[in-house]
Amino acid sequence: MSTLTVYNTRTRQKERFEPIEPGHARVYSCGPTVYAAQHLGNLRPYLFADLLRRALEAEGLRVTHVINITDVGHLTSDADTGEDKMERAAARAGRKASEIAAFYTEKWLLDRRRLNCVPPEVLPKATEHIPEQIALAQILEAKGYTYRIADGLYFDTRKFPRYAEFARLDLEGQEAGARIGDVPEKHQPADFALWKFPVAGVERQQEWDSPWGRGFPGWHLECSAMSVKYLGKSFDIHTGGVDHIRVHHTNEIAQSECAFDVHPWVRYWLHNEFYEFGGEKMAKSTGNVLLLEDLLERGFEPLAFRYFFLQGHYRQQQSFTLEAMEAAATGYRRLLAHAAEVRGEKGEPDRGRIAPLQARFREAVRDDLNAPRALAVAWEVTRSPELSPADKRSLLLEFDRWLGLGLATEEPRTASRESDPRIDALLARREAARATREFATADRIRKELEAEGILVEDTPEGPRWRRR
Ligand code: AMP
Ligand code: ZN
Repeated sequence: MSTLTVYNTRTRQKERFEPIEPGHARVYSCGPTVYAAQHLGNLRPYLFADLLRRALEAEGLRVTHVINITDVGHLTSDADTGEDKMERAAARAGRKASEIAAFYTEKWLLDRRRLNCVPPEVLPKATEHIPEQIALAQILEAKGYTYRIADGLYFDTRKFPRYAEFARLDLEGQEAGARIGDVPEKHQPADFALWKFPVAGVERQQEWDSPWGRGFPGWHLECSAMSVKYLGKSFDIHTGGVDHIRVHHTNEIAQSECAFDVHPWVRYWLHNEFYEFGGEKMAKSTGNVLLLEDLLERGFEPLAFRYFFLQGHYRQQQSFTLEAMEAAATGYRRLLAHAAEVRGEKGEPDRGRIAPLQARFREAVRDDLNAPRALAVAWEVTRSPELSPADKRSLLLEFDRWLGLGLATEEPRTASRESDPRIDALLARREAARATREFATADRIRKELEAEGILVEDTPEGPRWRRR
């Protein structure tokens, strides 16, 4: 029996995880909308889902993990208005929507590999599941849950009495404060599009024929249609960012529970909190974002970002700062150095000595995936005077099944300190520019040095450089 407990948004409490089918955990994670690069905030849901997946596997469960790729229908507004993010990005770049989608999907997959995320079993694309989405909307229509207006086919939320339950919504309040810019013909503000008709005069690349006319699926539909295909009518765990609770996940539940006559459709709903950056949510819309690539350019190892992620609990909002990232990188390098030191140990560990630490590490992970606590146990191992090098090797490599920090394989990077008066002077100028927030100048200096093959690394002790 699994002893993993998770905080379930559906019941607002921590619960012991029991899969529907013994020995098999079925998990669905809302995936990226591939119209732009995924920033560090966007990567948090996948690091979190990966930690969950590893924990489930460590419980001896077979895992079927589905992460969808949204490549159509996600509008710039949650209220079924605005532009399609994919179409807009394609028009701006003068490219095909499919090319944009392929490009950013690849980038995201590369980031996942760099971060040591275990590949999911299925990565379904919305555009490759249009018939499934139409079929689902037809079921809902046949059961009387829909209505048609000039804008598209809509789900009538009044027909689903549990609609407000999941997110504890105040629908009357919503009615009073109906959003300006919403689709005027909608019966209730909460109603949402299953199928959208293109706006007259707006050229679209991605449209399909349907029983209701040419158009494209509403964004929420794909998750219901693809999860049933790969995981069945009811499954174990659904993950996503906290921002999805009120609209996207609420709508997924409405579609699936009404179409498949199940309740609860998903047993455990797990949501990760945001990363803040510069005092607000890291978000593409405000532009306050950093990409994993930006961290690599600054000399960080990708897995140092995974370490940063593990330092916080997934349900806690966290501020991302470069200073905190420096601290995480230092911690990561030290932990890796400890692991590298004992990696080659051939001796057998002492079972009695390592058992209590194994138990405490597992307890931490089993307690709603408490990564910071688990990481603290790993640190305790490195410091323990009682444990032999073989004990340490055995423990650290075992812990890395969950942590995914490459403790068995990665080479610790040592920032060597070279000296060259000209380069040191340039770096001093760059520091001065950074201190006065002249980031363009600072960036220019770093790029000039890079062009010469000099890599600059910012460390807590100040910038260091090395030759490529
Ligand atoms: P978006 O591209 O905004 O649709 O977001 C894709 C996923 O990333 C969603 O699951 C969001 O909840 C999540 N997300 C977006 N911004 C952040 C952030 N700053 N911190 C954590 N997760 C985020
Ligand atoms: Zn979804």
